[in-house]
Amino acid sequence: MFNNLSEKLDKALHVLKGHGSINEVNVAETIKEIRRALLDADVNFKIAKEFTNKVKEKALGQNVLSSLKPGQLMVKIVKDELTELMGGEAAGINLSANPSIILMSGLQGSGKTTFSGKLANYLKNKKTKKPLLVACDVYRPAAIDQLHVVGEQIGVEVFSDRDNNDPVAIAQAGIAHAKANGHNVVIIDTAGRLAVDEAMMTEISNIHNAIAPQETLFVVDSMTGQDAVNTAKAFNDVLNFDGVILTKLDGDTRGGAAISIKSVVNKPIKFIGTGEKMDAIDVFHPARMADRILGMGDVVSLVERAQEQFDEEEARKLQKKIAKNQFGFDDFLKQIQQVKNMGSMKDLVGMIPGAGKAMKGMDIDDDAFKHVEAIIHSMTPDERTKPSTINVSRKKRIAKGSGTSIQQVNQLLKQFDQMSKMMKMMQGGGGKRMMQMMKN
Ligand code: GDP
Repeated sequence: MFNNLSEKLDKALHVLKGHGSINEVNVAETIKEIRRALLDADVNFKIAKEFTNKVKEKALGQNVLSSLKPGQLMVKIVKDELTELMGGEAAGINLSANPSIILMSGLQGSGKTTFSGKLANYLKNKKTKKPLLVACDVYRPAAIDQLHVVGEQIGVEVFSDRDNNDPVAIAQAGIAHAKANGHNVVIIDTAGRLAVDEAMMTEISNIHNAIAPQETLFVVDSMTGQDAVNTAKAFNDVLNFDGVILTKLDGDTRGGAAISIKSVVNKPIKFIGTGEKMDAIDVFHPARMADRILGMGDVVSLVERAQEQFDEEEARKLQKKIAKNQFGFDDFLKQIQQVKNMGSMKDLVGMIPGAGKAMKGMDIDDDAFKHVEAIIHSMTPDERTKPSTINVSRKKRIAKGSGTSIQQVNQLLKQFDQMSKMMKMMQGGGGKRMMQMMKN
């Protein structure tokens, strides 16, 4: 995410390293580099200029009062200003009505249908919400099918009417269906066109007027940079929407849309899409995004993702197993699955402060666990609970079955053994022993 921008900003901020203080000259040089980095990331020219002017003003004004080094001070100022530019605080969605109606808008291909599914799934997982998805794209039967596929995948009902070609009527029928069947959230997926045109605007505006949604969300592909901002403006002029959804932030996005959109339409970015899967959705937090842009990682989001995956009851059971020396390969497999559920490896590594920079150019493999999983799957249930029984002939069989080598099997067994010992030590108040071991 935003690798290029992060790198260039890092370089710009490096200008001040080694300088004892901030002055007109070194600030001017830094500012020039920051502005160039923003323009390269496809940030709107006016916004880039305003942004750097503010940063400059703050930097020259605060220097005397600060005990921070010039480099650190500048990073802080840039971070605060970026956060502000992207909206300051995270903005929630309004779900107070029953049912709460959420209208999705945006161009075709922006990720509306995918995001409708993600949002339904996100709300469904909150337990108190029972969403209904409504398919209002009357032009593309494939779009209706797509929403049904998504609905099935996440276990959320989808309302559609293939015989009706009036999207307003379908939306209204969908809401009536929701009321009659106890759905407290209705997510309405609408048709998009490849570019902004009048017919599309009239149609979405008619739906909007007829159903008076609590939330009108505008979905936009972040890869489209400045175009994203222009489209947002066109939709906002007609719909006066409540929030923006930025999709495809997992791709090689330059960052311009994320940085510019809020100040152009004065509407917050509410969620981001970070992949094609149904769980690739995150609440947009401006401060955390600023951290990521500045290569400072996003530990808070990382911890939150971990918390979503690991449940306390399971953790307690695991602890008991470890204490009794019963932690086996099946448990290990479960742990791997949980880590995988947290997101793509690239994405996770990007959340660790400094890791993005340190691991630059390295190929981060999302299939990192593939061999490990294959080896475990080739073990019998007994072997998984008692790895000590795995002798040479068994190793041969496992390697063959998993398409790996005996060395790889040996390596996994060794790692597993070390890990089990370590976990046992951590358990039995062995922190001290462990420290001792690490010192030796
Ligand atoms: P719609 O025409 O606006 O409904 O767009 P779709 O939901 O059909 O999405 C268009 C394409 O973008 C599909 O191939 C999706 O899988 C893909 N897509 C949607 N959101 C994301 C995202 O956050 N990341 C990535 N990588 N792909 C996405």
